[in-house]
Parts: sequence; structure tokens; C-alpha cells
Amino acid sequence: MKTVSEYFGNMVFDDRVMKATLSAKVYASLKQTIDEGKELDLNVANAVAAAMKDWAIEKGATHFTHWFQPLTGITAEKHDSFISPSPDGGVIMEFSGKELIKGEPDASSFPSGGLRATFEARGYTAWDPTSYAFIKGKTLCIPTAFCSYGGHALDKKTPLLRSMEALNKQALRILRLFGNATVKRVVSSVGPEQEYFLITKEMYDARPDLRFTGRTLFGAKPPKGQEMDDHYFGVIKPRVAAYMEELNEELWKLGILAKTEHNEVAPAQHELAPIYSTTNVATDHNQLTMEIMQKIAAKHGLVCLLHEKPFAGVNGSGKHNNWSIATDGGQNLLSPGDTPYENAQFLLFLCAVIQAVDDYQDLLRISVATAGNDHRLGANEAPPAVGSMFLGDDLGGVLEAIEKGAPYYGAEKTQMKLGVDVLPKFNRDTTDRNRTSPFAFTGNKFEFRMLGSSNSIACANIMLNSAVAESLKQYADKLEKAKDFEKALHELIKKTIKDHKRIIFNGNGYDDAWIKEATEVRGLLNYRTTADCMPHLLDKKNADMLTAHKVFTVEELNSRCEIMLENYCKTVTIEANTMVDMAKTQIAPAVRHFAADTARDAAAKQALDSAIPCGYEKKLVARLSVIAEGIAEKVESLESAMIELHGAKDVIAESVMIRDVILPKMCELRVYCDEAETLTAKSYWPFPTYGDILFSVK
Ligand code: ADP
Ligand code: MG
Repeated sequence: MKTVSEYFGNMVFDDRVMKATLSAKVYASLKQTIDEGKELDLNVANAVAAAMKDWAIEKGATHFTHWFQPLTGITAEKHDSFISPSPDGGVIMEFSGKELIKGEPDASSFPSGGLRATFEARGYTAWDPTSYAFIKGKTLCIPTAFCSYGGHALDKKTPLLRSMEALNKQALRILRLFGNATVKRVVSSVGPEQEYFLITKEMYDARPDLRFTGRTLFGAKPPKGQEMDDHYFGVIKPRVAAYMEELNEELWKLGILAKTEHNEVAPAQHELAPIYSTTNVATDHNQLTMEIMQKIAAKHGLVCLLHEKPFAGVNGSGKHNNWSIATDGGQNLLSPGDTPYENAQFLLFLCAVIQAVDDYQDLLRISVATAGNDHRLGANEAPPAVGSMFLGDDLGGVLEAIEKGAPYYGAEKTQMKLGVDVLPKFNRDTTDRNRTSPFAFTGNKFEFRMLGSSNSIACANIMLNSAVAESLKQYADKLEKAKDFEKALHELIKKTIKDHKRIIFNGNGYDDAWIKEATEVRGLLNYRTTADCMPHLLDKKNADMLTAHKVFTVEELNSRCEIMLENYCKTVTIEANTMVDMAKTQIAPAVRHFAADTARDAAAKQALDSAIPCGYEKKLVARLSVIAEGIAEKVESLESAMIELHGAKDVIAESVMIRDVILPKMCELRVYCDEAETLTAKSYWPFPTYGDILFSVK
């Protein structure tokens, strides 16, 4: 059997393979493209394509695809085989540089939000050479960006790469000011922790709501849930362990650094975290991870649920986006250094993040907004919909001292003068305690915790990179003109802390008192739903910033806002239709049958002897009848609201109706149905209950 280090990355056309299969000249040229963004010349592309094809065929591949990330949130691929007819009736295997660099999928069915006219059905895909090609099944996958013929981005990768470029450009300006003349590139890195549920395929198949919507739309609270806290970090069950083992192997073959795995808080909930990598690679890898999680589950007779809130009353699933910025030399710019100068630089980058999170709270909220994640944010398990940052007491104390010009009495009881003194060493343990903060400093990185488990991490990182690039740009504009750099720097840091400290909060983010303080005293935003936040993507402040850094065009922003709102409306519409269907064809009949049988039993008892008590049956039948009426009434009311929804004048009006009318009506219907479940004999109930599902994997 091969060891992990022998097979790790063996399905990836990585640096090791490039070195071994390309001529020194071609390798050097490709490396320049990868490391410095230099344009690729066609001769080099031809040589790379030939080497890639030979390598892939040797590994059993027959097809290639441009692998991309349209705005559906999942990945897309269209397979072409390598075959090309030869005159003798056979085939030869071909793959050209042109095919590697550019593809032209007929992309008319991908959402474009009006960006692509119907006559211009084709889009094009362009190779992202900074993310390695890999083999999945029998297909060579080439990571690509996806654009319309007019050059508008139709995917998540294009703006992500642009945001990385914006951050690079502004961070380099700052580093030059600190006298660093050698650094060539600054990149952001991400380690996304991925939560998920595993249930058996039998349970999944028996629930139309899970099959159609990814979450349960009905379900009474089970007798045992997560109250015992016995699942978190608990012993992993053999069937789950077998799943994780195969999952790790598949991920490792694809060069994905799967590192940590454990049970989560809820029964049947687990987590997987990779070692962090460059943001665009981490994004590709996270998409692949989600796909492979589902594929391997199927092999084990299981289903992997990536929905943010598959079960009401049970913790939902999120994704923690651990984010940092570093130089090509490997210096983490969010790590406090050992010299006063390094520390001043660290504090400036820290300020850039603080300002970014405050100025663009709305964009960060928007970047994680989906119908699914709306169920999590603000419930007592995930960070609230209000943005805030946790810095910890040590760092908080330093910032306060700088702002007030007062001595800093930290752990070492020293006065801290910026640019002169060394920052006290932070105890990493104290920086990672607060799990209720949406955005926490954890020693040398920030952990953005608002993401939903099914979100592509691209959106969050596009906004994060862009917002931080904007802070850095403002700082560079000021500092480049300053006559006395140190004085200007000190003033800038002081002013930034003063202006933006309202976003810093070290307390319990789940507390209602905090939401009150945040919104009423500090003036922070609280966009509870996707319908509330999404239109603000187009606010002048946001559009100006994103277009100035060339991350989005105005047209792209318009299209994205429309697509995200459409997605919200479609998701909830499917849920509402599924609810109506299940209530009418499964739940109501079950309640009726059980009530009728109970009534018949009571009548039979009475016929036998009128002295036999049957108050219990009577009460039960009465309640079940009330419930049946309630279900019928709520179904009707939901159905007519759904008809009215068709009349909405645009997608914004539709999303508001969804928020204000449809979702509340769905909740009302559910209340009756969930009560019915607690009263109806199990043998009559038409599908597995929460207890059945959550404890299905033995
Ligand atoms: P936790 O206590 O949240 O589990 P870990 O230290 O295990 O914290 O880190 C979680 C994730 O953060 C991992 O994916 C890890 O690789 C990533 N990570 C660690 N350092 C950095 C960094 N400098 N930049 C980005 N991600 C990082
Ligand atoms: Mg974490």
C-alpha cells in the first residue's frame, strides 16, 4: 500500500510534474506567469498542453474540461475528449495550447443577470494558471475564469482574482513606505473550516423536503438533541470514520491539504479543515471538497448535507474563513513582529482590517447572504447578522493606549510607544476564546465566521480583499505625501482607532443586549435577511469602492444583485411548494387516517359497552381535527400568497414578499404539522422524524 506522502497530489499537474515534464525554458516561462502574472505566450502554452495531455492520458484520462465557478454557487464542467480522427480510421489524442488557454462553452443556461444577451449565448473560459490542473474521474480539469463575450465576469473566480490583485497593489505601496524594496507580491491566504451533516441514504430518500431543498421543512424536536453536548469532539463512529478515511484519501490525491476532522456540536454533524493556502486555490479546493464529500458519502450509503440549517432547533452548519495576508517571502503581515518597526507595520495592517470591517459591514454581510444562511445568522449558534470584531484584551489594550496616548499597562506593564517599543507578546490562547464573534483576530489571522456551509468562499474573500485594499489605498495616499513618516503614521493609526473602534466588541455576540447596543448606541448595521442586505450591494459607497479597485463593473454588480435575489426567491419558492405538497399529500392524510381510526376505535368500544371510558380518544380526535383544519387553512393561505407572488413587479419586490409574507406563512403551517407529528402514531407518520434521521448513522 502506498503511503500518503507517496500518493499526495498524484492527480495534480503540480510544480513537481511541471519540473519533470517541461523543458527548463518552458518551465521558467510558466513559472513567471504563475508567480508574477506575466502573460503566457502561445508556444509555451502549446508545450504545457502537450505535457499535460501526456501526463493525464498516462493516468487514464480520456477527456479534458475547463472547470469553472458560475454564479450558481457550484462548479461547472463540459467534457471534451482528447480524440481527433487520423486518416487511417483511428484516432490520435490531441490537446493544444489554445484549448488549454481558452474555452467557449455554450453557457446560455448559466445565470447572467442580464449581462449576456440571448444572441450572445456563448461565454468564454480562460485558464487560471495559478491554480493547478487536476484529474477527476477520467477528466483533466483546468481551473478557469468564466466571462461573457463582452468581457463581463460571469463567475466567482474572476472578481476573486481581481480582488487579490487590488490587495496586492495597495499592500505593496505600504510595504515600500516601510522600506521594503524587495517584496514582489502580497497574497491573501485562507483556511476554510467546513461543517456538514452525514445521514443515511434511506432517511434522505424518504424525505421529499431533504431531496428537493436540502433541509427539513417539518420535524418536531426529538427527545434527544444536542443538549448533552456529548457529540462535540466525541468518538467518531466506525461508519463515519470509514467515510472520513476515504474522503481524506481522495482529497489528498487532489493535493488538498485535509488536516483536521472531528464531530461537531449537533448529532450527525462533523467538520473538516484543510491547511490554509492562497485564496484562489483555497476556493477551488473548497468547491472540490464539497463535491467530493457528497460523492464519497454516496459510496458509503450516506448523504452529506451541506445546507446551513438542515434541522430546526439543532445547530446549523457554517464555514469559518481563516484569512491572512503574506508577502511572497512568507512574512505574515497580520503577525506582530519582533522589532518596533515590524510592529508599527503590523498595527497599520491591523487598522486596515478594522477600518475595512467597519466601513464595509454591509458588503461582508452581503457576501454570506443566502436563504439558507438567513436561518443561522442571528440564531443562538452562529454569529449575529450584525458585524463586529473581536481583538482580545491584549491587543484591545494596546489600541486603547495608542488612541488615548496613554501608557499601556499590558501583561508586561510597560509603556508602549509606537515605533520605539516592541509590542508585548500576545498569548495566543487569549486571542481565540471568543467563539461568538463574527470576525475574530486569532493571533496572526482573522477568522470570519459568518459564512454558511454551502457558500462558495469566493464571495466573502472578494469583499474582504477589496475592503482591505481600500483602507490600504487611503493610507498609502496619505503616507506617501507625508513629510515626517513616523509622525504621520502615528497620527493615522490613532485616528483610525478612534474612528472605527465602534466595530470592536470583545463580549458575547449572541447576547440580545449586544444587538441593542450595536444598533442603537454604536450605529452598526443589522441586516437580518438576504432581502434586507442584498440591494445595498449597489449603494454608491460600495459600488464606488468596488469599481475603483476594478473588482467589479457597475453592470456586474447589477447582475450579481439580481442573481442573488433571484436565487433567494427561487430557493424559498421551491421550499414553499414542497411544503404545500408534503402537507397536502402526506401529512394531512396521515392525520386524517389516524384521527378516523381513533374515532372508529372509540365507537367500537362504546358499541361494546357504553360504560367504557373513551375521553382520551375523544380529546385526541378533537385536537387532530383542529390541526387538520389548521393545516388545510394554512396551506390554502400559503398557496394564494404564492399566486400573488407572481404579480411582484421586480425581484426586489418579490424578495420583500418572500420575507414578509411567504416565510411567515411557512412557519405557521409548520407549527400545525409539527404538533401533528407529536400526536400521531408513529406507524401512521409518512416520513422519518428528527430522531430517526439524526441518529441514523450507527
Ligand atoms: P481553530 O482553533 O479555529 O481550529 P486552527 O489553528 O486549527 O484554529 O486553524 C483553523 C484554520 O486556520 C486551518 O485551516 C488553518 O490552516 C488556518 N490557518 C492557520 N494559520 C493561517 C494563516 N496564517 N492564514 C490563513 N489561515 C490560517
Ligand atoms: Mg476555527
